[in-house]
Amino acid sequence: MASDESKATGGESQDDATNLRLQQKYAEEAAKRFRSDGVAQFVDLKDASSDRVRALKDDPWADHSALNAKPAVKDGARYKFIILGAGYGGLIYAANLVKSGVVSGEGDVLFLDAAGGFGGTWYWNRYPGLHCDIESYVYMPLLEETGYIPKNKYADGPELLDHANRIAKHFDLDDKALFRTTVQSAHWNDESKVWHISITEDRGPEEESRRLELEAQYFFIASGVLTVPHAPKIPSLETFSGYMFHTSRWDYSVSGGKPDNWNLTGLQGKRVGIIGTGATAIQVVPQLAKLAKEVYVFQRTPSSVSWRGQRPTDPEEWKTKIAAKKGWQIARMKNMDRFLTDAAREGEENLVADSWSRVTAYSALVGSPRWGIIEPTPEKIDEHVARLYKLDQPYTEQVRARTATIVKDPDTAARLTAWYPSWCKRVTFSDEYLQVFNLPHVHLVDTEGKGVDSATKDGLVVAGKEYPLDILVLSTGFRTPGHGGGNPAERADIRVFGREGKSLHDKWDEQGASTLHGLYTNGFPNLFFSAVAQTGQAANFVFTVTVWAEHIAQVVADAERAAGPRAVVEVKKEAEEAWAVEIMKRAAWYTSILGCTPGYITSEGQALQTPKDAAEMVKKARSSGWSEGMESFIQLLEKYRAEGSLRAFEVVSATAS
Ligand code: NDP
Repeated sequence: MASDESKATGGESQDDATNLRLQQKYAEEAAKRFRSDGVAQFVDLKDASSDRVRALKDDPWADHSALNAKPAVKDGARYKFIILGAGYGGLIYAANLVKSGVVSGEGDVLFLDAAGGFGGTWYWNRYPGLHCDIESYVYMPLLEETGYIPKNKYADGPELLDHANRIAKHFDLDDKALFRTTVQSAHWNDESKVWHISITEDRGPEEESRRLELEAQYFFIASGVLTVPHAPKIPSLETFSGYMFHTSRWDYSVSGGKPDNWNLTGLQGKRVGIIGTGATAIQVVPQLAKLAKEVYVFQRTPSSVSWRGQRPTDPEEWKTKIAAKKGWQIARMKNMDRFLTDAAREGEENLVADSWSRVTAYSALVGSPRWGIIEPTPEKIDEHVARLYKLDQPYTEQVRARTATIVKDPDTAARLTAWYPSWCKRVTFSDEYLQVFNLPHVHLVDTEGKGVDSATKDGLVVAGKEYPLDILVLSTGFRTPGHGGGNPAERADIRVFGREGKSLHDKWDEQGASTLHGLYTNGFPNLFFSAVAQTGQAANFVFTVTVWAEHIAQVVADAERAAGPRAVVEVKKEAEEAWAVEIMKRAAWYTSILGCTPGYITSEGQALQTPKDAAEMVKKARSSGWSEGMESFIQLLEKYRAEGSLRAFEVVSATAS
């Protein structure tokens, strides 16, 4: 409702008109990009029909002889905790289990991971320029426990990978992993009250792979979010005769340099093409521009690129301010989240104080404790969406103005300008990316929303023009996190069977997302998972997992206090359904994504389609997040724990049954 003052001045109606014009411009730009094939426009590299494209998924980093020399995991071995995923997520779960006292000795934990080492995202991604875009002090997990001081405000890939190994060592987990391993299925045995987990261990090119059956009292799925590299189905891509690789499997034998030395001497004299202009490409392109003869950046949708402000950690500031008090890291994570979700307290200092912490409209995706539930009436929804656009406007305008200031050629600047709300794609930050388009050998090939037409033996074709290339980098991202409607088993590409042989896939197909707090589901005792549905979310994934892991560790510890070390804990059906109702009540919050340009956040536009019937609409609503933001989610979990963390669970002892 307009205030009397703004009615008198016409201020609010002017704002509304600007807002509407902006939404119209966004809609026009999005319309250029919608495709009827949605996620089917991509192929996961592992499923590509051409051998050449399929091979792009192979692990360039695994040290097979060192891994083969380790003591073999025995077929039939039983562990207390098996954790699928040895990235930051899995490590944070394990560290919290250790801290809560439920891990006590040998044979308690085994990580399973397809990678050849710890690190997850930071194991696979080693491309030149790789940094985490979230401040290292809040992104690098367990800094207080490990005592590590990040070198810079934003950590680079090698530092992030080292830190994964540091955490493993610190919590005595470093020899508790079976790498190069894919999990096929997990079956709950209700007689013995254990999970039976079928896996295949790849032993590299020199040895046969091994199929094993393991047992676990508790099974955790921490398989990550953006993990399955994919490529657009560009006609004849496999016929390109130059070098080609995906950013998540960087080929330093071609580019020169190493993961920790980005002196890419192999690019000298070469014409390098890169498809994609997302968060990864923003970091890669400036590195390519240093030594390549020509760089062609094939763009479908420009990224929103704000300032970075990288700087070394000041030891004095670290000691006296950043890490001065016990509990500083979680406090800083919360502080960043409050600023990002428009929920900063009166007079509160923005500790992170970077661009990310100022993208308040990102709360369209991660919720906000300030705004609460949106009544799903048309007027309320319109009001909510208009408010988000208004909140976003200063940020996006600043980014657009920055682009125009940095990029000297006005046509190139216009093409590099992002026209969509900040919540549609990962916002990006760089003090180098836009600048390189002023260099004569860096060429923007703008496909005007259409994408690359085809490949030839010699290069890529856009709008009938062939661009000859020696090297082609696919910076084309990963399978969408929405894959499988948020079913954690589907995201991890495994089959999970609970009590009475019921599969998690069937449960999700029948009723949609069904969890308590996004973390466990009825019918699947002693199963815990990282969620994308029905849970609190933050832009900083490490913050989110930290909150989940502390809570789960307490549930396990409480269950063992109640039922002994062979506890079996299963969320009650009524608790799960009551939670689904709470989630659905808040689902209207996410309406603002309807104005989005396609991308992985909207499953390439598929999430924007009107549900075909009421049942589909309910499933969609059930798969939303907790729209009141992470801080409110934490308070909810704290209240839950204070009132007795086990009241939503059946807890029995396996030995008693
Ligand atoms: P994205 O999915 O964000 O980007 C893929 C790019 O490929 C897009 O620019 C896309 O265009 C483009 N593309 C797809 N198909 C075609 C085509 N046919 N022709 C031309 N271009 C095409 O993947 P990224 O690897 O860049 O990033 C994925 C995510 O990884 C990030 O959003 C972020 O969450 C994470 N990441 C995180 C970092 C961090 O610091 N924490 C750093 C880097 C990545 P279009 O936009 O039109 O679809």
